Amino acid sequence: MKHDYDARHLNIETFAKADANIEGSKRLDHFDRLLEEAQGAGAQNPVHFSAKGSTRPNGGTSEQIWLALTAEVALPQTCQRCLGPVDVPVSFTREFRFVASEEVAAIEDEDAEEDVLVISRDFNLLELVEDELLMALPVVPKHEVCPGAMKPQVADRDFAEAEQEKPNPFAVLKQLKKRP
Ligand SMILES: [Zn+2]
Repeated sequence: MKHDYDARHLNIETFAKADANIEGSKRLDHFDRLLEEAQGAGAQNPVHFSAKGSTRPNGGTSEQIWLALTAEVALPQTCQRCLGPVDVPVSFTREFRFVASEEVAAIEDEDAEEDVLVISRDFNLLELVEDELLMALPVVPKHEVCPGAMKPQVADRDFAEAEQEKPNPFAVLKQLKKRP
């Protein structure tokens, strides 16, 4: 029998025990926090996601509930080199193990390599996709090669050095504050 799974209302245990898959894409404007990161740009950009449930033996009578999740989006950002707009590819692939309670999750998440989450019959997979994409954002978004960066290599290197020598504005501020 074929199930239809709803990414916003997923019964994790049923999904995992069926070894089920869910795959889809939603527009960026379904994800408020990501859209905010993009300052409202790229509302139509698709967020692709794919999840697979599975169970693994627990050594006892019960089974562990697992979910493998991957997602990607091209997120509009401001290039920190040329200050022009750039669509930054953001993606992640992670495994999650689901446990019965918040207490167990808190204890086991410390030691486990995988992320440990609390099992739910009404799990919002899209929220997890958004959480993980936000965490996968580059700290300094930039073009691989900025458009209009046609300067000769030497000039480019001078520019890079000049950038590095610029004092950190926070350090400068500290110095100013120290003055009587
Ligand atoms: Zn750039």
